[in-house]
Formats: sequence, structure tokens, C-alpha cells
Amino acid sequence: MARGPIEAVTIDFYNTLVFHRQGQGRGAAIVDYLKENGLEHAPWEHSVLYEVFEDHERRYPASAPPEVKSAYHRHLAGRLFDRLRVRVTATELSRHAPDLWRILGPSCFGVFADAFETLGALRTAGYPIALVSNWQSGVRHFCDELGLLPLVDHVLGSADVGFAKPDPRIFHAASDRLGVPPERVLHIGDSFADDYDGARAAGFVPVHLVREPGAATDAARVVRRLSEVPAVVQGISDASGAAE
Ligand SMILES: [Mg+2]
Repeated sequence: MARGPIEAVTIDFYNTLVFHRQGQGRGAAIVDYLKENGLEHAPWEHSVLYEVFEDHERRYPASAPPEVKSAYHRHLAGRLFDRLRVRVTATELSRHAPDLWRILGPSCFGVFADAFETLGALRTAGYPIALVSNWQSGVRHFCDELGLLPLVDHVLGSADVGFAKPDPRIFHAASDRLGVPPERVLHIGDSFADDYDGARAAGFVPVHLVREPGAATDAARVVRRLSEVPAVVQGISDASGAAE
């Protein structure tokens, strides 16, 4: 069981646990796709993702058979094309739907090699884990299909919680869910403003993940690989024990 100054861990999703396989965001990939297919569209904005996925948490048929999921993918494609004012026939929409799901859905993300082992090590050491992400509704389903859901205890996405990092309220929602006071929760993430500063302002113990070799950070506590996190947690406990 976890004891000592850190009793739980919260962790960011994008660029901490997962990355874009194609090296570009979903918006850029959608714009490329529409161009390749000769489809005119309204300008892309990041908010389009939030609008298209608005009811994803509630409506996505995570455990349904493939044909039910296919119908949902077509529903999502319809929302996307409506929002971007892309005009196609119903038949064309059905043809595009699987491609659009490949661009927008979880399969466009890869899981960092050290993510599974790190979450596993933290759980083995007895730390409950909450994922805290600035994400559209339904990030839980993404975690599920990427194989991460069994390794975390709670998933808090900003669209579902109603607050986005660095707002302290999403961090406090996480510490409440974990049943651990903020000062006993370690947060790890790749964004200095959202993760490091946000978590610090919320009273958490923040750690900045900086994967780029040699990249500078003003953070007082830094890791270069996710797999360093269990040792950092242990180090904080050891330091606390030595001070007593
Ligand atoms: Mg991130």
C-alpha cells in the first residue's frame, strides 16, 4: 500500500501517455483528407472537435457489436460534415465514415512505450491513478480502446467535468474522486502551463514531463521519461521520512 506524502497520482493524456501516430493533429489530418477528396469545407477550428464529440461520452456504444459502432461512426461523420458544411450524399457520407473515424478516433493515437509499465508500476506500488485531460467528451472511451482504462482508476476529461486545466477545479475534482487531499497527489504532464503550473496552483505536487532531449524547463521537478515517475514518488517519500 502507498503511504507517505504522496498517496495518489494524476496524469495527463495527450503527449504524456499518447501521441499522434501521423505526427499531426486531427484537425490538420481532416483538412488534408477533405482536400484529397476534393471536398470544400468551412475553416477548421479546434472547437470543431469539441462540438463533434459533444455527446461521445454518453452515446458511444463502447461494447456494442461492429455494425452498431459503424452506425455511430456514420453519425459522427454526419456531425463533422454538418459542422464544416461539407456537402455529400448519404451514400458518400457512409463511404467516408470509416476513414473519418480512423482520423478522429483512438486509432490515430499511439501509446508511448513507457506508459503501460509506468502505470502498472504505480498501481503495483499502491497508488490510485486519475487521468486528467483537456479533451472532448468521452476521453474514457479513447482510454478503453487504447488499452489504458484498466490501468487507471478515474478518467476526468475537461468537456465532461466542465473545467479545463489549468483551472484548479478540474484538479480538485480529481483529488475528490481519488479521496486524497491535493497536497498528497502527484501530477505529471507535458504542459508547463496546464500540468505543472496548474497542478501547483491547485496544491498538488507537480512534475513536468519533458521528453525532448535538452529542452529547458523552469519546473523544479522534471522527468525526461515517464518511467522515472515511480522513483520520483518513492524519492519524495524517502526525503519526507528522512526529515522526520
Ligand atoms: Mg499533454
